[in-house]
Amino acid sequence: MLKMQNIHTYYDNIHALKGINLNINKGEIVTLIGSNGAGKTTTLGTITGLLKPKEGKILYNDEDITCVQPGHIVKKGISLSPEGREVFPQLTVFDNLKLGAYTRSDKKEIDQSYEMVYELFPRLFERKTQIAKTLSGGEQQMLAIGRALMSKPEILLLDEPSLGLSPNLVLLIFELIKDINKLGMTILLVEQNAKMALKVADRGYVLETGKIIIEGNAKELLNDDRVKQAYLGNL
Ligand code: ATP
Repeated sequence: MLKMQNIHTYYDNIHALKGINLNINKGEIVTLIGSNGAGKTTTLGTITGLLKPKEGKILYNDEDITCVQPGHIVKKGISLSPEGREVFPQLTVFDNLKLGAYTRSDKKEIDQSYEMVYELFPRLFERKTQIAKTLSGGEQQMLAIGRALMSKPEILLLDEPSLGLSPNLVLLIFELIKDINKLGMTILLVEQNAKMALKVADRGYVLETGKIIIEGNAKELLNDDRVKQAYLGNL
């Protein structure tokens, strides 16, 4: 469904992605793990058209989307839930969600998306009229995911959804990721919490200084000595 082929992305002369090859099949949860500065966010920025790769191709359902503008990428069915608290702080929960649907026009379908989001996150329904900056960290994370869902994506890209959350909320967020996947969405999950990410994912990629160094079935990666040593905190 989504293929990155030999992607090289730079920030001026900083070579952040050094030949990334990554595949996501329909219906999968794929995780991209790696430590700080490995290039995870850069990978998502490159897929969503915010960053232009210097070399390589991105194919989406066999169409070359390498140079497509971010708004059009959303329209094509790829949506990003950004890292941390990147909701619109001065707007209400409802208005944040509304903005997530900015590429759509069918009111009935948009209403169905509100229903889906409120069903997944009852907390957002209760807090519809609350200003986003006054939400707790976990609630803001839910809102960021909910807003991404409002574009009715085929592929949802999640940038570190568990970052800064309490252990209970981390569990809840990962359960919700599974629920969203069961609703038919394909997911690319970027995480530093490798253990949890590999537990919910079908397949995984390990990124280190701009290169994929290991890839495979998530269960195999959980048992891979190199992954255990570097990312799971045990041997
Ligand atoms: P983290 O988990 O800390 O968010 P990451 O894996 O998402 O890390 P990226 O944010 O993609 O890593 O960064 C990859 C590399 O690109 C790092 O060396 C980083 O310093 C560099 N980089 C990221 N953004 C910029 C920027 N705007 N200008 C220059 N260099 C950047």
